[in-house]
Amino acid sequence: MLNIARNRTMKRRLAIAAIVAGAATAATVAPASAQTDFSALSSGVTNAVNNTVAEVTGTTVARPANGTFTSGFGPRWGTFHNGIDIANAIGTPIYAVMDGTVISSGPASGYGQWIRIQHDDGSISIYGHMEYLYVSVGERVSAGQEIAGMGNQGFSTGSHLHFEIHPDGVTPVDPQAWLANHGIYV
Ligand SMILES: [Zn+2]
Repeated sequence: MLNIARNRTMKRRLAIAAIVAGAATAATVAPASAQTDFSALSSGVTNAVNNTVAEVTGTTVARPANGTFTSGFGPRWGTFHNGIDIANAIGTPIYAVMDGTVISSGPASGYGQWIRIQHDDGSISIYGHMEYLYVSVGERVSAGQEIAGMGNQGFSTGSHLHFEIHPDGVTPVDPQAWLANHGIYV
C-alpha cells in the first residue's frame, strides 16, 4: 500500500508540475494539455494496482522480485557490491524490469546462473543466483514478465536475487535509486 501511495503521489506531482509549467509559459492553459496530464495520472493508478509495475516518463519498469531487501549497492566485504539483494524462498518469481532481449541465460562465475537483458535504451539488467531459468538467449521479454525462479547458486549464502542495472550497458549504478527514479521502491 505504501508503494501504491508513493506511486500515486509521484504521478500527481508530475501531473501538477506539468500543469504548473504549462500555466507559467502560456497566458491560458490549454484544456487539451490538462486532459493529457490527467489521463497519465489515471493510467498510473491502474498500473499501481498490482504494485509491481510503474510507468514514469513513458518507460514501464517492473520490480525485479518481491522479498526482503538484504544488501545495497556499494562497498561490502572488502570488495564492491555492484547490485542489490532481495531475499525470498527458492523459486520466487523474478521479473524482467523493462522490455528487452535476453543476451545471457545460464551459468556465470560468482552468479551461479545469471540472466542478462539488453533493453531498448541500451541499458543492461543482470539477475543472479537463480534456481530456474525460463528464458533463452535471443528471446524477447516484456517488463514484468517472469524470467526465472529465485535460488541460492554461486556466491550466495541464502536464496536471494542479486540484481544489477547498467544504464550505459557497461557501468553499474545503484539499482535502488534507479528503480526509485522509475517509480519502484525496494
Ligand atoms: Zn548481490
